[in-house]
Amino acid sequence: MKLYNTLSRKKEEFVSIEPGKVKMYSCGPTVYDYFHIGNARPFIMFDVLRRYLEYKGYEVTFVQNFTDIDDKVINRANKDGVGFSDVAERFIREYYVDAEGLGIKKATYHPRATENIDAIIDIISTLEKKGLAYEAGGDVYFRARAFEGYGKLSHQPIDELESGARIAVGEQKEDPIDFALWKAAKPGEPSWSSPWGEGRPGWHIECSAMSRRYLGETIDIHSGGIDLCFPHHENEIAQSEGASGKPFAHYWLHNAFLNIDNRKMSKSLGNFFTVREAAKTYGYDAIRFFMLSAHYRSPINYSQESLEQARAALARLNSALNNLRFLTENGAAGDMTTEEREACGRFDKYREEFCAAMDDDINTADAIAAIFELVRDANTVASSEAVTAAYAKAALAVLEELCGIIGVGEKAEQSLDSEIESLIEQRQEARRSKNFAEADRIRDMLKEQGIILEDTPQGVKWHKE
Ligand code: AMP
Ligand code: ZN
Repeated sequence: MKLYNTLSRKKEEFVSIEPGKVKMYSCGPTVYDYFHIGNARPFIMFDVLRRYLEYKGYEVTFVQNFTDIDDKVINRANKDGVGFSDVAERFIREYYVDAEGLGIKKATYHPRATENIDAIIDIISTLEKKGLAYEAGGDVYFRARAFEGYGKLSHQPIDELESGARIAVGEQKEDPIDFALWKAAKPGEPSWSSPWGEGRPGWHIECSAMSRRYLGETIDIHSGGIDLCFPHHENEIAQSEGASGKPFAHYWLHNAFLNIDNRKMSKSLGNFFTVREAAKTYGYDAIRFFMLSAHYRSPINYSQESLEQARAALARLNSALNNLRFLTENGAAGDMTTEEREACGRFDKYREEFCAAMDDDINTADAIAAIFELVRDANTVASSEAVTAAYAKAALAVLEELCGIIGVGEKAEQSLDSEIESLIEQRQEARRSKNFAEADRIRDMLKEQGIILEDTPQGVKWHKE
């Protein structure tokens, strides 16, 4: 499998540190509000990478943090008149609601900055001992020039960084490019005691500390949105490698922006939709599908049209899945026909195309195209009146396998709604006893719920409108 590594700016063959195992860290949300569709992009993308690595047989340890203390959390707490930890708790809970809706699996660990203050203090102390950090007025800063290789991830020479950097009012940095590891407590703000007095951690250090605690000094993959490349990830490298003297992460993966009207969707620009709002209009599944319909390093535009397109494509996929499910019960008994056996012979080709796309830097757009080739093929075979249950089972197994890897398509338990099934059975019963008025009444009742019945040679099928 090849992955595009921001560090080398090349697609590289993926080789894990330990055979069969992958250690992955992805920067998670700052929990001061519902997350927006832009934030959802890395969460969905790196969930897909993790699932695919697992499909390939790796045992993946995946860490995604919660930034539960920073200015934004404190501001929200002040605005709402609650404690900062109430804000964090609330939006961590809300994160899980949306993440589950979007089909994002829980990480192996979801550590929080405030639960790792000891690990944070520990790494800052190491940096201080090594001359890479210094205290100034209760703050602690990282001495960027003292770390050889500062700028290597974002490919910026140090002098260029220097010209773009400023010292803000109240900061006592030696050099504008230095960055805060620890911030002295301000009146009324939450703080923790440390060797440098009361204070709270800077943002960048939490990821270095938690990555080391949960995964060790060197990890396989570190990921996040492209906006994190500089300064956040550049600083993480400086902190982690400065402290350990070892490479921090072998592969650095960054997703491109999700835009709206060609501008990055962001809280600060105010041009955002929360996942919660968008899910009410389009459904969580369509949001996930939309996100995967483009390669993660290409910018993607959020619009009503693109979401409607995703929803329509997903409906085609769900209809194929549900049709095959129906036929596994209602298709002809007995052996497959010659054509069906030939059709099964093509399954490997679709699986190979799917995997070739995923192996090429997680090209989910092409992987979805391979799924749709299979869908078209299976729809054609399954349109025969004589289609066997055996073929339906075989086709369904491959389709569910590929859909499962990237987490798209309705699952069996979602489509099997026992109440609907029982109403359909009652309608069949009414028809058998020639009680057509009752049969029509049930059909209309189902229609009101958005359930459309279709009489086919294999029996009654239903789908959602
Ligand atoms: P934040 O909570 O702002 O730290 O962001 C969480 C994640 O969302 C980070 O990996 C960001 O890089 C990513 N992110 C934020 N906005 C966008 C966007 N418009 N498109 C893609 N990724 C984004
Ligand atoms: Zn981070």
